[in-house]
Amino acid sequence: MTNAPLHPATGCIWYGEETYLMQGATQVPVVHSVAYGYDDLDEWLAVARGEKPGHIYGRNTNPTVHAFEEKVRLLEGAEAATSASTGMGIISSTLFALLTPGQRVVSVKDTYGGTNVIFTEFLPRINVDVTLCDTTDHEQIEVEIRKGCDVVYLESPTNPTTKVVNIALLSKVAHEVGAVVIVDNTFATPINQNPLQLGADLVLHSATKFLGGHADALGGVICGSQDLIDAIYHYREINGATLHPMAAYLLLRGMKTLELRIRQQNASALQIAQYLENHPAVEKVNYPGLTSHSGHDIASEQMRGFGGMLSFRLQEDSFDAVRRFVPRLKLAHAAANLGAVETIVGPPATTSHVECTPEERQAMGIPESLIRYSTGIENVDDLIADLAQALSVFDKG
Ligand SMILES: *Cc1c(COP(=O)(O)O)cnc(C)c1O
Repeated sequence: MTNAPLHPATGCIWYGEETYLMQGATQVPVVHSVAYGYDDLDEWLAVARGEKPGHIYGRNTNPTVHAFEEKVRLLEGAEAATSASTGMGIISSTLFALLTPGQRVVSVKDTYGGTNVIFTEFLPRINVDVTLCDTTDHEQIEVEIRKGCDVVYLESPTNPTTKVVNIALLSKVAHEVGAVVIVDNTFATPINQNPLQLGADLVLHSATKFLGGHADALGGVICGSQDLIDAIYHYREINGATLHPMAAYLLLRGMKTLELRIRQQNASALQIAQYLENHPAVEKVNYPGLTSHSGHDIASEQMRGFGGMLSFRLQEDSFDAVRRFVPRLKLAHAAANLGAVETIVGPPATTSHVECTPEERQAMGIPESLIRYSTGIENVDDLIADLAQALSVFDKG
């Protein structure tokens, strides 16, 4: 394999794989061994001190896990990468590794639910000040960053309303005050968006979603400079939220088709968004690829494709309408997941915002009849026909 960057479609297949071929195996082996034996104690010492590549103990590093980290690192064009057992494992490791009491984080209100809990419950406990801005109010975010902060944490597009934040602009402002910029790139994937190239310092993924793509393995991964990744790895090796080698293998295998899947999901989601936007039973569609989307211009600048995630609000704005509509869909799992090969639907009331009251969801701009739709790789005409027959429950007369 060459060192020159490969086309992402090629990189998805070949990045991270070759160095781990053992006895001619064409696929990365799943190394289940917890420890690694050394006959030569000096060699053991050299590996332990980090002077020589190798592995010592499975909580720290593992060859299968390393191959997965390499595949993501190269797709994100980063110097270094490390991983964790889940997306939240890498998000919490990162925030607790980088932040100390007395420091300040600026973020947005629409981050992933679990991330939001870290901001509102756990960071304040260790005296870290957190300011959550209106996600689309770039002026307010800029003002808050300029007041001085240590971390700027962004997510784009967001869950479930697909809001878009300007990563290049906010990274520039953050760097003026010396803050580290972290971007949750789960919805976009490295195929559609590379936050490091836009100026961010760290890019992370819940690999559970699009990277793995088959809803059968949990994982998290983060990429950035060697210094920052070393600090995050050090925290993660001690808190012990290590990615399991079997999960790493499933994620590696899933990622081989990442570019192919995302290309299909980009195309299908746009077609579905356009179909829904013109449907009388649908009040509003949130999809960054629609020209009606408030973040469409920024998304067009920073994304190569608009992704597989969309959400829409029914004309009849009640949870009862959702209750009648969702079970009629035959080609979609109603489940609290996203980013898989099969289409998945779920109302925020039972998925991303299950902890909130209807009033709180309303205040966050999440209507009771909002439905999150994670477009799978099924034939798009079949998906649209399925939506049509399910929406016919709202036909008048
Ligand atoms: C699912 C998700 C996470 C958390 O990932 P887990 O693997 O479930 O821990 C974080 N961010 C986003 C955007 C997600 O969709």
